[in-house]
Amino acid sequence: MKGHLFHIQRFSLDDGPGIRTTVFFKGCNQSCIWCHNPESLNLEPEWMRMDSLCTRCGRCMEVCPKGAVRFVDGSYYTDNQKCIGCGKCREQCPQSALRREGYQMEAREVFRILEKDKAYYEKSGGGVTFSGGEPTLQGDFLMELLGLCKSGGIYTAIETNGNTPPELLERISPLLDEVLVDLKHLDKEKHKRFTGADNRRTLEAIKYYIKHNRTEIRIPVIPTFNNTMRELQSMLDFLEEAGAYDVTLLPYHTFGVSKYKNLGRSYRLEGHDKMETGELEELLGTIKLPSGLQVKIHTK
Ligand code: SF4
Ligand code: SF4
Repeated sequence: MKGHLFHIQRFSLDDGPGIRTTVFFKGCNQSCIWCHNPESLNLEPEWMRMDSLCTRCGRCMEVCPKGAVRFVDGSYYTDNQKCIGCGKCREQCPQSALRREGYQMEAREVFRILEKDKAYYEKSGGGVTFSGGEPTLQGDFLMELLGLCKSGGIYTAIETNGNTPPELLERISPLLDEVLVDLKHLDKEKHKRFTGADNRRTLEAIKYYIKHNRTEIRIPVIPTFNNTMRELQSMLDFLEEAGAYDVTLLPYHTFGVSKYKNLGRSYRLEGHDKMETGELEELLGTIKLPSGLQVKIHTK
């Protein structure tokens, strides 16, 4: 079976324990306004134009047979709805400024890449992480990959927003050695305004994973969304009641901001600086930490 991906990162140290290969699925059922992988949101491939390389020569617009390239406010953009993916714009770009994000691969082809580093996984206590985008959106493809990893003796993890139908949760959970799941907000309406989806399935998924899998909960701490003492306290209290143990706070960062410009999209948190670890430590100091939780701050 073929799946939609946008990247496979070997020797990753960031998406679970040990040395890992991270498979980034394309397509997401949320659109968090701070997302640092905006190229992951749509299932279909799309063009990214590196703004720092582009000299505005206009060749891409001249050669496009579909009129898919537009010039707006001093920059060129590709209308991915009109684009047929012929690649003429990239061939003609003198700056190599155009990158096609997204491709399809068979699960077995992906697995052949994953198993190359099995010795490193074993030595370091690592394995494979399926990330995104939202990997559970391509449930059958994910199931096939998890099955291949399990029969190949490879430790599996998933990074998920938890917005997954309960029947799929029950199918994937036995094939997962570890789950990294986000908790973003307890208020259904606010969650929807900032992520594009309400949190009902996520809250249920968190409880389910905690019961059935080794689970780390990740809370991205985002300005104007959930960075107050009251909001963090309520999430930590919810997690204690749900039986969580491992909680990681992810301070807001701005690594992905330039990608929005490169994709021709606007970034809704423009002007907010990254959150320093000390700032988050200070905020955490104002909270009554539930005794059952181990809460740490992500510092990489
Ligand atoms: S993307 Fe390439 S071809 Fe298009 S305007 Fe920029 S430099 Fe020229
Ligand atoms: S891939 Fe082809 S159709 Fe799409 S923007 Fe480039 S030249 Fe136009």
